[in-house]
This record gives sequence, C-alpha cells and structure tokens, in this order.
Amino acid sequence: MTPEEAHFREELIDRRQRAERTAARIGTRPDLAALLARIDEALGEIEGGTFGLCRSCHDPIETELLHADPLAQFCLDHLDRAARDRLQADLDLAARIQRRLLPAEPPAGPHWRTARAYLPAGPVGGDVFDLVAGETGGLTFVLGDVAGKGVAAALLMANVQATFRALAPIEPDVARLAARINHLFCRSVLESHYATLVVGSAAPNGRVELCSAGHLPALLVRRDGVRELGATGLPAGMFCEGSYEAHRLSLEPGDALLLFTDGVTEARDAAGEEYGLARLAARAAPLAGRPAEELVAACQRDLEAFHEGVPRADDVTLFALERPVRT
Ligand SMILES: [Zn+2]
Repeated sequence: MTPEEAHFREELIDRRQRAERTAARIGTRPDLAALLARIDEALGEIEGGTFGLCRSCHDPIETELLHADPLAQFCLDHLDRAARDRLQADLDLAARIQRRLLPAEPPAGPHWRTARAYLPAGPVGGDVFDLVAGETGGLTFVLGDVAGKGVAAALLMANVQATFRALAPIEPDVARLAARINHLFCRSVLESHYATLVVGSAAPNGRVELCSAGHLPALLVRRDGVRELGATGLPAGMFCEGSYEAHRLSLEPGDALLLFTDGVTEARDAAGEEYGLARLAARAAPLAGRPAEELVAACQRDLEAFHEGVPRADDVTLFALERPVRT
C-alpha cells in the first residue's frame, strides 16, 4: 500500500466511524446506508489496488479531486455537467478566499519599501507569501512554495500562512519562527508534502535576518553586484525537529533583497529553455538603488517576454524589499 493509499484508507475508516455514529443517533436512513456501502466499496478498492480509478476511462482520478472527496468516482474529464459546475464554483470561491489571504497593500515606511507580484498558474496557487508590519517600523515576511499544484497545494499554502500570521507577532527570532512553522507544518501534513520557505525580518536600522528552509537563493542586489543567499535548513514538513541558521545582513540605503519562487527560475520558453537564476540576477543587477516596485516590475516583464506565447506552468511570486535612499 502506498503512503497515499494508507492516507485515504485512514480517511475512509474515519468517515465510516462518523457515519455509524450518526446512524446510531438518527437511525439508518437510506442515504446513510448508501454512504456506508460506498465507503466499504472504496476500502475494498484500496485492498484490491484499484482505488482512485475513473469509472469511465479507468485512468487515475486527479489527486486533488480525491483529497477533496475520497469517494470521487470520475476524473475531471468525466464528471457530469452538474458536478463540474459545483467544482468550478468551489474553485472560484477558493480563489476569492486566497486573494483575500494576501496582505493588502505592501506597507511603505521610512525604513523599508516593498513590492510583490503574485501570479497563480491556475485559479488558486501553492505559492506562499505574507508580510506583517511591526509596531516599530520593522517587517516580518515569508515567501515560499508548497509542493504540488491546485487546490491541495492552496490548502497547504493557507495552512503555512495562518501559522506564520499567528506566530510572527510573538516570535521575534526568525530562526525560531522558521523552526516553529516547520514543526507545526510537519504535524499537519502527509509525509509526501513539504514546502520550501524563506522567513525573514527587517529591522528599522537596516538589519535583516533570513532563514531559508530549502528554498532557492535570495538575491542581495547592491550597486557593487548581486550576491546569492542560499538555504540554511531543510524544507518545511520533511523533518519535524529541524532547526535553521539565519543569514544576518545589514542593508545600506539603495540595497534590496529579491525573493522569488521556482515559477520564475524554472519557467520555460517555446524551445524548452529554462529562464534560470543567472538571467534573473543579470536583470536585477542594473536596478540596484532603484525602487522595489521597479525591480519587481522589470523582472516580471523580462520573465513574460521570455516565455511569450507559452502558458505559465507554475505559480510565480516575486518580492522585493528595499532600503530606500534618503532624499
Ligand atoms: Zn475519466
């Protein structure tokens, strides 16, 4: 039995127990009896190795559909019109909820300016982004990427973000913040799920601390060049007791940090060529000292020009944190 099948088996047994308890309270109505029969049938399919196959085409049903409903019997292509409409309505609602999870306008103050682009590939995305402004002019932020796509990834993204939002105001140390997010994420996900994250804080005096849980390098963009800041620990969700080191930096006026997800660096053009970290760094370098909005907009434009005509395959998030030049 695969870990995924074991997960669905547990889920189905749990549902069976709940249905039985309900039946004990309200009597075995026909709909409950049908539900119990369907659960037993699905459990039998797991034993027989035929779980999760579409009744119409016999191809595997999309994993996200099964996570939403382990009793699903048809793949996306073979859902009937009504079921498809219901699913679309759920997706639209999920997309609206996710848009509201993003911080409204990035705060701009005397100490820091920020800009971001958050572009899901589908209706909902698995990229994580959030930013919390402290009372004294500092910022705490998280950016990352949950493994997988679609609704299942969006649910995990919401889980990470809720944890971050709850902990950021009470945990000033980013290494401990990253470790606590990892710990909670680890306890709430399947073995096969993980997320790469950058958790950082920026103090009013220019000090920045950055922890990277297996995420792509962050770019420090300065007039004298662009420097990569690599991972300082394992991805979140892989090892519950993981700990993180922090990069400690001091940003001068005109310096900026650029964070991004692999939807940027792994984007491909029509010829199958990858965008790559080197191109992003080269695009960012001449923008040292420019406002955060310009840095993000220029990188986004360059990426769009690169994969012109090829639909985006992955979620894209860019975030710039700039220490403004005093005027
Ligand atoms: Zn099918």
